[in-house]
Amino acid sequence: MVAAECHAHIFMDGVNYKKAAAAHKNSPREDLIREHLAAYQKAGISYVRDGGDPYGAGVLARRIAPEYGITYRTPVFAIHREGRYGKIVGRAFSDWKEYCRLVREVHRAGGDFLKIMTTGILDFAEKGRVTSEALTREEVSAMTAKAHDVGLSVMAHVNGAQAVIDAAEAGVDSIEHGNFQNAESICCMAEHGTIWVPTIVTVSNLLEEGRYPAETLAWIFETQKTGLRLGFEKGVVLAAGSDAGAYGVLHGKGIREEECVMRKILGKEKEQELKERLAAGEKKIRDKF
Ligand SMILES: [Zn+2]
Repeated sequence: MVAAECHAHIFMDGVNYKKAAAAHKNSPREDLIREHLAAYQKAGISYVRDGGDPYGAGVLARRIAPEYGITYRTPVFAIHREGRYGKIVGRAFSDWKEYCRLVREVHRAGGDFLKIMTTGILDFAEKGRVTSEALTREEVSAMTAKAHDVGLSVMAHVNGAQAVIDAAEAGVDSIEHGNFQNAESICCMAEHGTIWVPTIVTVSNLLEEGRYPAETLAWIFETQKTGLRLGFEKGVVLAAGSDAGAYGVLHGKGIREEECVMRKILGKEKEQELKERLAAGEKKIRDKF
């Protein structure tokens, strides 16, 4: 079993995003954060990498996490382009100067790494669609280079094959989600040694839940299975992260479910190799983030 949750949002609870966000609005709610940290401790998790929040919840979590035997890593807030996806987990820039200002702010606030949003999220209601436009290849390259210049690794929220290629070639350190890939994008991640955190459980946990069209979810899940199998075969560095806090994904429980669904997709004969590969991915995440 892995000992790290490589993608979580401590400010959310996996149940009701609006309510959770409202709870932290004035200042981060320590009692709620402690509940989630206790869930990680109970699940045997000793490292959590947060995906960002606009309320300072991740920073507070980092401060108290050692009480739970947990090393906590946070980008403080995630960074997105104004008008594109990402508002729920961070802050926006509208030009290069503003982006640089946000990077400085993350750095000053003691951010452990930089989280950038280069595309939208998958549309649970429409096959193959990613919400909101992707950043250009040039933007992603410049943003990544800037982060590396100030010594911060880059965790990139990316969906869609071309966007994955652009991010991997830009040198981002990890790709989060990475839905709807093809052979080219997967080989590109393998070639660049990019860590892939596929967060499959964000879809598989919704399969029989009734919130979105079942047939579309099943179709999306199929694309994830194909992607994971190919990524595994091509030697992509894989790490387990559940996007805990997202709808249907609970802190502590989510990461065990992610591991389980990965095991199921790859089958019994790959179980031992998957274990080794996830351990290697976890080590790489802990080293870089
Ligand atoms: Zn996330």
